[in-house]
Amino acid sequence: MSVNAKLQSRVDGIINELTVSQEILNKGVDFFIKSAEKGLDNKDNDPYGLPMIPTYVTSIPTGKERGVLLAADLGGTNFRVCSVSLNGDHTFIIKQEKNPIPVDLMSANSADELFEYLAKKIGQFVNTHHGDQASESKSDDNKLKLGFTFSFPVDQTSLDSGTLIRWTKGFNIEDCVGKDIVQLLQSHLDLLKIPVSVAALANDTVGTLLSRAYSAGAVAGDKQGDTLVGAIFGTGTNGAYPELIDNIKKLPKNYVDELKSKGKTHMVINTEWGSFDNHLEVLPTTKYDVEIDKISANPGYHMFEKRVSGMFLGEILRHILVDLYREGLILQQYRSYENLPHRLRTPWELSSEILSYIEIDDSTALKASELALLNALRLPTTHEERIIIQQLTIAIAKRAAYLGAIPFAGLLLKTKALEGHNKEVDIGVDGSLVEFYPGFRAMLRDALSMTKVGNQGERRVHINIAKDGSGVGAALCTLSD
Ligand code: ADP
Ligand code: MG
Repeated sequence: MSVNAKLQSRVDGIINELTVSQEILNKGVDFFIKSAEKGLDNKDNDPYGLPMIPTYVTSIPTGKERGVLLAADLGGTNFRVCSVSLNGDHTFIIKQEKNPIPVDLMSANSADELFEYLAKKIGQFVNTHHGDQASESKSDDNKLKLGFTFSFPVDQTSLDSGTLIRWTKGFNIEDCVGKDIVQLLQSHLDLLKIPVSVAALANDTVGTLLSRAYSAGAVAGDKQGDTLVGAIFGTGTNGAYPELIDNIKKLPKNYVDELKSKGKTHMVINTEWGSFDNHLEVLPTTKYDVEIDKISANPGYHMFEKRVSGMFLGEILRHILVDLYREGLILQQYRSYENLPHRLRTPWELSSEILSYIEIDDSTALKASELALLNALRLPTTHEERIIIQQLTIAIAKRAAYLGAIPFAGLLLKTKALEGHNKEVDIGVDGSLVEFYPGFRAMLRDALSMTKVGNQGERRVHINIAKDGSGVGAALCTLSD
């Protein structure tokens, strides 16, 4: 089966625009390092700096930690509570419960209504699973420690304090904005006499870093080097790593001195690398990227994320297909745009999960892709159309993975983590894209070897899945003192 020359030539042109060259990678890595450095000394929001948010986590688990810790995660739709029993040998036992958040609480009249509900759910969890500990441990020191993952914009001011900047994801409780959310939760736990102390505000990338650092070594030979980065490639993308305190210029000087007097050398930084290169100095940009940015919830922001993470890959393919239709190159049985299958015209309808099936389809006449596209978009396709859809899918995912290597290379080079005789580095990753997309990690590695990290360096980098950063990772945050 060969594709008609005009269509193939147009598709080759698009694939060419999606190709990430060694030059783009090198420029990207240099610019990432610069943006990271700017973000670390940035006091007045330099627009070219990465957010580089200090997390106040100053110790990385070794895997020998023991004890029972709690974690709670307020995401968009659920409130998850879990307990983690650390066995001290890189393994743990986790128990968890998921509570749907009642819709009326999302726009409650006062913050107290929401936080009373959260405290009650924590109380119920503790009674059910840790009733014995709860009754013994009345004094402050013996309270169960809880790491609170609060996935909304927060201005964190210490390990266990931070004020809500604004609500997102459909929440809207006005009197909560500007308040310390740790204090809010703690005061309701205290009112209900629940013996839990909220000891850390956590975030999923930091959690990923800590959970991988704790777990590395659970299986013999599984720990190769210290864990340098925790990274997410799921709906969005982000990463965290420990930075030398002296390099974090935006921390107040007296606070830095205090940390050093306690023997602290590093603090974990939440890079918020989804915002890398919002001004598009180095990132490749197609007209499809421009269109998607316009219809996104945050035009002009998260430009890196919009080329790399799971939320966007299917949408890129959808835009290209509609464009090829408009140019008269595919799907010409539909007489007008309005006649195209509804789902093909609907933004965000094509999930990157479908792309993961198309990527590795080797069935006769790409029949598996035919079914996947029928199921997902109610879109019938010809063999010829599926051939170019597969070519485009491969190019979109490859661009995502190649660009995904930029922050890894940037952090490896910036921290000099591979310098020294036979140094090895461990990286923990989480998120459906990196976990399930066929070849995603291999493509990341290909690109890593094309950067200044080189072949030799790339072989010394070990990328491992770290599950459940907002569970065990958030719990581990409470151990940083
Ligand atoms: P979250 O980001 O909410 O923590 P996930 O890590 O599961 O959740 O990531 C969800 C994203 O991953 C979605 O964009 C989804 O389309 C994508 N995804 C889910 N399964 C796959 C898959 N098999 N291959 C590629 N992407 C996937
Ligand atoms: Mg996640």
